[in-house]
Amino acid sequence: MSEITLGIIGGGQLGSMLAIAAKKLNVKTVVFCDDIDAPAQNFCNKFVTGSYNNKEKISEFINQVDLVTYEFENIPFETLNEINKFKPVLPKPSVNRLIQHRLAEKDFVNKLNIRTTRYVSIEKKSDIDALEDFLPGILKTTTLGYDGKGQYPIKSGEDLNSLNIDFSKGYILEKLVKLKKEISIIITRFSNNKYEIYEPIENTHEDQILKYSKIPAEINEKIFNQSKDWAMLIAEELKYVGTLCVEFFIDRNDNLYVNEIAPRVHNSGHLTINAFNVSQFENHVRAVCGLEQIPLKKISNAKMMNLLGNQITHYRNMQKFNDNEFFFDYLKKDIKEKRKMGHITTLV
Ligand code: ADP
Ligand code: MG
Repeated sequence: MSEITLGIIGGGQLGSMLAIAAKKLNVKTVVFCDDIDAPAQNFCNKFVTGSYNNKEKISEFINQVDLVTYEFENIPFETLNEINKFKPVLPKPSVNRLIQHRLAEKDFVNKLNIRTTRYVSIEKKSDIDALEDFLPGILKTTTLGYDGKGQYPIKSGEDLNSLNIDFSKGYILEKLVKLKKEISIIITRFSNNKYEIYEPIENTHEDQILKYSKIPAEINEKIFNQSKDWAMLIAEELKYVGTLCVEFFIDRNDNLYVNEIAPRVHNSGHLTINAFNVSQFENHVRAVCGLEQIPLKKISNAKMMNLLGNQITHYRNMQKFNDNEFFFDYLKKDIKEKRKMGHITTLV
């Protein structure tokens, strides 16, 4: 039986599902979150709340754990780096710093000869001139975006002028890809050339928020193999330890592009809880805690639907689900529009 106590930064649904997976492996968990109502406190052994730069609270947290991981990437690099001086942080803080910056992330991917969308850095007003090549496009803040937050569709240079952009922040303008499909690859890297990799997952977004995921993805063999190869190359190059997600675009000519990398477990992988012998969460805990690697086996095809805002109410009131349906309520205190409140996975 393991005697490990894992610290998890972030107490949302991903932190909850990591804590549940850890419990199954007899790994104790302490969750640290800036939200006093964080849902993961329902599933972990101990909960510490404080802001992500509160030194006292961070010491209280790290004194109780053997190592630290995180459920989201927007944690100040200084915080992760400071923690890493006392307890190992996995994935490494440097990986997190690279990926939380959209420009650095895309430059890194391109250097591996992997296709991304075309993009340009926007730092000052004059950068806006002569951008026709990148239009129509999407302007995104270089840091701190998620679920489409901090993103603005741009059709013409005038749109950019009228947005009244705050140039104290950095931006990236990305050419719009004429999307046929979106897929993601979830991979858990244990050490050099040791992986567990899930098959491509097909994702449907509504208003830039993930709504549905399913396996198998309806894609050709070339894209099936290329997406897996690229995810492995990225994980290996980063010397990554833990579960990582690569989000891809497929355009109408069946070209594959890396959209972004998430250095963590991912919403599109929730179906792995029911569709595989080992979930993305369990694999993450196994990898960061140095536990045994178990060969991945698929149990069933599956589809997952995110329950946003009020949609959760209907499912909370359901008396009974079919045997192939698995409902997860994240137990968030307040229902807010478009907030991820739960999900339902159906094995098919
Ligand atoms: P987030 O960090 O919010 O997930 P993404 O860059 O993944 O940001 O964008 C969210 C969604 O918006 C994507 O999954 C896709 O559906 C759409 N999107 C973003 N960038 C582009 C683009 N360049 N071309 C086409 N669609 C895009
Ligand atoms: Mg995304």
